[in-house]
Parts: sequence; C-alpha cells; structure tokens
Amino acid sequence: MSAIVAIVGRPNVGKSTLFNRLIKRREAIVDAVSGVTRDRHYGKSDWNGREFSVIDTGGYVKGSDDVFEAEIDKQVELAIDEADVIIFMVDVETGVTGMDEDVAKLLRKVKKPVLLAVNKVDNNKRAEDAVEFYSLGLGDYFTIASTNGSGTGDLLDALVEVL
Ligand code: GDP
Ligand code: MG
Repeated sequence: MSAIVAIVGRPNVGKSTLFNRLIKRREAIVDAVSGVTRDRHYGKSDWNGREFSVIDTGGYVKGSDDVFEAEIDKQVELAIDEADVIIFMVDVETGVTGMDEDVAKLLRKVKKPVLLAVNKVDNNKRAEDAVEFYSLGLGDYFTIASTNGSGTGDLLDALVEVL
C-alpha cells in the first residue's frame, strides 16, 4: 500500500490545480459514491522514486465554491483519518480567512505530518505577503504556485521525507 496524501483547504485556494499537476492525469479515479466522498478525487503520483496516492478534497461540482464550512470541516476530518500526510493549502491572494483558521485549529491537534502550502505565490511581493500565515500556528510553510509549478519541488521533497 502506498502512502496517502490529502490536499485540504477552503474552496478556490488551488487544491485541484495542484492535484492535477501531481497526478499528471495518470490513473485519476472518480469516486461515484454520494455524500462526502462524491467530492473526493483519488490519483497516484511519485517523486524521487517514492510512490504515493493523492486525495483531492472539496468538490468538482460547479458552484461548489460556496460549500458550507461544516462540509469543509467534514472533508478535513475524513482526510485526517484516511491520510498519512496532509497538505493544507491556503491562498496568499486572499490572505488568512476565518475558514483557514478553523481548518488550522483542527489540524493543530493532528499527530500526522501537516505541510502548509501557501499557494498563488506568483511573484516576490506575494512571497513576502506569505508571512502572515505563521499566524495559523502550524510553523513554517512552503510558498508555491500550482499553476506553473513554482515551489512545488521543495514541497514534494519535504513530503516524501515524511511518507
Ligand atoms: P480548489 O477549489 O481549491 O480546488 O481550487 P482550484 O484548483 O479549482 O483553483 C481555483 C482558482 O485558482 C482557479 O482559477 C485557478 O486557476 C487559480 N489558481 C490555482 N493555483 C494558482 C496559482 O498558483 N496562481 C494563481 N494566480 N492562480 C491559481
Ligand atoms: Mg477543487
């Protein structure tokens, strides 16, 4: 069994963009079960010769950006149960939101490795802006841009180290 990595975070931060980059369209499996699992996609990826499974949480349904907070918490709790490592994604464009703080609160209690990924860091200014995410109490973070892959190598290096 390969290790399971879950990408969690509020809607629109870029989780699916990173997921698609990681799986490179290989073996994307759509779970047809209704309920929470309806909104989860599974795929396989590898880095430096280490294979792992990736779960993209949060929904592919159009208009799902207004998912209720409770739904996101449910996704995070499921990910905490199921995953070996959690990538918690936030968005530097919007900065820290109340939803980010709620998810961080859940993740701070978790014994499993949590990697904080500050996404949409497309330029140096945004790299500086990312410092505000220290306030989430999860320690250091990785600055990435899922659209062009910037910074994702460092994130994956750290990921395979804790697998
Ligand atoms: P999800 O709801 O968390 O799965 O987010 P998506 O992956 O669907 O992305 C939401 C929006 O953010 C899309 O319009 C993406 O193109 C955009 N996005 C994702 N990653 C980046 C990034 O690194 N930089 C910028 N500028 N936009 C991004
Ligand atoms: Mg998505």
